[in-house]
Amino acid sequence: MDDYQSILDEIYTELSPRFGEGHVATYIPELAKIEPQKFGMAVITADGRLFQVGRADEPFSIQSISKLFTLTMVMGEPALWQRTGREPSGNAFNSLVQLEYENGIPRNPFINAGALVVTDLILSKHGNAKEVVLNFVRRISGQSDISFNFTVAASEESVGFRNKAMAYFLKSFGNIKGDVEVVLDAYFHHCSIEMSCVQLAKAGLFLVNHGKSPYWSVPILNARETKYINSLMLTCGTYDAVGDFAYQVGLPAKSGVGGGILAVMPDQFAVCVWSPGLNDVGNSLLGTQVLSLFTTKTGMSIF
Ligand code: GLN
Repeated sequence: MDDYQSILDEIYTELSPRFGEGHVATYIPELAKIEPQKFGMAVITADGRLFQVGRADEPFSIQSISKLFTLTMVMGEPALWQRTGREPSGNAFNSLVQLEYENGIPRNPFINAGALVVTDLILSKHGNAKEVVLNFVRRISGQSDISFNFTVAASEESVGFRNKAMAYFLKSFGNIKGDVEVVLDAYFHHCSIEMSCVQLAKAGLFLVNHGKSPYWSVPILNARETKYINSLMLTCGTYDAVGDFAYQVGLPAKSGVGGGILAVMPDQFAVCVWSPGLNDVGNSLLGTQVLSLFTTKTGMSIF
């Protein structure tokens, strides 16, 4: 079964009366300006066939989907699993409480605290955590025109008090080694990267193909590390809704408050959906439902 185009068209028709449902992320002023009715979806198969519907070529703010790429960059770092855990947090992605009683070790690399630690690891390794991440994302997706949105990064920086508190709190536990302001600046920029559904689906192909991207001659990860990342996406990729998401969708996925969700079916396809209206935990409301419909209609989930 791989006539994904007719299924995408069907989903589009079925869901279009509901475009705009949910609430756009207002805590980042620039994201509050996005039209909630926008919708795009793209599927790319392991052998490179692309299917798309709606605004699948329109770049949007990838936000926390960037955590997937930054984690990929540090998978080989020996300190990684001493400095962050790999259990679902059961708490909001920007929660501070758990961090205190767990002595500054974030539950996993996909909540904000964990991603800040990951950014710090990249900074220690490369001496620059901004451009190296952007270049990495460009290379794994084969798209040289991907960029930061500096307005979004500045907008988040101007109100990012909670992330700043978190980064300084991590520093107090010795779990940020570098300059906290440099780590935060890099983190806000990673979140501001703009990509379309098509570009994100392409970037996700290495997770479909056991670590190999068709756009990069060297494997990005080995098969074992790829399994680790996909498992982490399944257990931690959609925050405190991760159980419900796995129940409904049945695929490893990573979401962001820009309204994007990237999901993968190993050996088969990467799928990305974008609908900016979020549910209460910060995952795309329609995006989750669309992916649930997609795996039901195609019969393609990991379970
Ligand atoms: N930049 C956002 C933040 O730190 C990312 C959160 C998200 O996408 N879940 O709050």
